[in-house]
Amino acid sequence: MEFAAFWVVIYLIGATIMFVVCLGLIQINQRHPERKIQKRPQTHDAKEDILSSLKQIAVTAFCLSVGLFSQWKGWTIAPVDLSWWSFPLFFIVSLVLHDAWFYFGHRLLHTKALYRFHKPHHMTVTPSVWSNDAGSTVDTLFAHSYYALVLFVIPMPALAFIAHRLFDQISAIIGHSGYEYFAGPTSRKPFPGICTTYHDQHHSEFVYNYANYFSWWDRIFGTIHPHYDRIIKGWEDTGARPHMPKAKEQI
Ligand SMILES: [Zn+2]
Ligand SMILES: [Zn+2]
Repeated sequence: MEFAAFWVVIYLIGATIMFVVCLGLIQINQRHPERKIQKRPQTHDAKEDILSSLKQIAVTAFCLSVGLFSQWKGWTIAPVDLSWWSFPLFFIVSLVLHDAWFYFGHRLLHTKALYRFHKPHHMTVTPSVWSNDAGSTVDTLFAHSYYALVLFVIPMPALAFIAHRLFDQISAIIGHSGYEYFAGPTSRKPFPGICTTYHDQHHSEFVYNYANYFSWWDRIFGTIHPHYDRIIKGWEDTGARPHMPKAKEQI
């Protein structure tokens, strides 16, 4: 019963964040047509994505609740005390770990055996703010089981864990928004940061840019979009949509 209440509260917070961030971004995007990443219109049905997201947020909230509830009950490894150094350290450690979890899980979801679970998320080639959580339950579990398990092996303070999840949810909504505001020197070579174009290219060309927060796994395994760095430089130079060649285009 206690756990169910925990889960419901986390679900309601997650759903509220989705609506607030998505509606806010829609307002901003309407004022910046020059920042739209793809030339084609965002045709995917928002209502369908919202209904799917409201289901999948129950799954993400469940994973998050398992982790937090277990730590609260003392069933996990004991967390270190929250301090000026432990918060940023564990926040970054968690980002790095989850990025690896996401990358390898995402590569698995693109194999023949598992793609059917990931296909619903890929039904949109021009993602919108509402596309982030939309997908199948197995797909969601691949990315979010991390939150159920990590506190059993990493002594992370709860606040760093929650901050990571907040960053994850908001950055992933932005990553699906279809509009680029974050292209800059730190989102391209030699830095490991990424921006919205990164995951947008994953939706439009399927077999590139699998990672979530950093580009290093894609660079190591040769799955980064071949023109990604050049395109980001183009965004920086013009402040508007640059020429965006497809991976196979010779330039
Ligand atoms: Zn994918
Ligand atoms: Zn996506």
